[in-house]
Amino acid sequence: MMTAQAAPEPHESARKAELAGNLARVEERIESACVAAGRKREDVTLVVVTKTYPASDVRLLAELGVRHVAENRDQDAAPKAAACADAPLTWHFVGQLQTNKTRSVAGYAHYVHSVDRLRLVTSLSRAAERAERELGCLVQVALDAPSGSVGERGGVAPDGVEELAEAVAGAQMLRLDGVMTVAPLAGPYAGNPRDAFERLREISTGLREAHPAANMVSAGMSSDLEEAVLAGATHVRVGSAVLGERPRLR
Ligand SMILES: *Cc1c(COP(=O)(O)O)cnc(C)c1O
Repeated sequence: MMTAQAAPEPHESARKAELAGNLARVEERIESACVAAGRKREDVTLVVVTKTYPASDVRLLAELGVRHVAENRDQDAAPKAAACADAPLTWHFVGQLQTNKTRSVAGYAHYVHSVDRLRLVTSLSRAAERAERELGCLVQVALDAPSGSVGERGGVAPDGVEELAEAVAGAQMLRLDGVMTVAPLAGPYAGNPRDAFERLREISTGLREAHPAANMVSAGMSSDLEEAVLAGATHVRVGSAVLGERPRLR
């Protein structure tokens, strides 16, 4: 086998070119959606969801100018964040989070998009204080969850947002930054991400009456980022359109 000292491995430069092409296509989609919505491109942040892909891909993305990455499982995220600690990246945690993982997450995450119950707020608050790191928090809304409940894929029903927001706002090392949703696959919003994201926009508007700084709206993925940008999303979370289709498992 030939070894070149400084030059990247051939497969690595091929992967970099692939990621660059995918990123350019996603960038074009975001730009077109911003034009259609009459919004400025810089008002929408691309967060690349790197779950199931290796730290080497995260490093390539950083080299290509990506500054925001997201993960949904602490077991995978913690080692990746450690492996990429020297890259200028902001880490977003977007998955369902168990309280026994908050200590780890508070060690590397800058934002948690999936705050959906009071016990989690308490646990994150303690973890952030212990880590001496301020943590940006978004309340995840399950638009299809019945009043007073939590959604199957995480998130609190819309009528539970205010209570959680108050808890986050009252926690010393947590910062209330906004709301997040995943377009529901079932119920009245199924197949209708535009309406789902408009509903999230209303919830965000309501939240900002009491918490004007909580202006992040995290919505839209590979399949529906245009609808999210049209409905005012400030952060789109894009995985497969940048990194490729994941195996079906998760
Ligand atoms: C995986 C994931 C995404 C990205 O989904 P794609 O369809 O691959 O773009 C966005 N948000 C959350 C919460 C995810 O788990």
